[in-house]
Amino acid sequence: MTATDGPFECDTCDADVRFEEARRTKTMGGLDPATWQTLCCPHCGSRLQTVYVGD
Ligand SMILES: [Zn+2]
Repeated sequence: MTATDGPFECDTCDADVRFEEARRTKTMGGLDPATWQTLCCPHCGSRLQTVYVGD
C-alpha cells in the first residue's frame, strides 16, 4: 500500500479525486515520467500531487 491510492482532495474545486480518475501528466523538472507522474484534477485541471508510480 502506498500513498498514491488517494483520494486526493482538490484545493481549487473541493473534489475528491481517486487515483484512477486523476489526469496524469509528466512532472515538471525532468523527473523520469516512467516513475513519477503528476496527478491533476479532472474537473478543474489543478495539480493535485506528484506520485511515484515505478516499481
Ligand atoms: Zn479541481
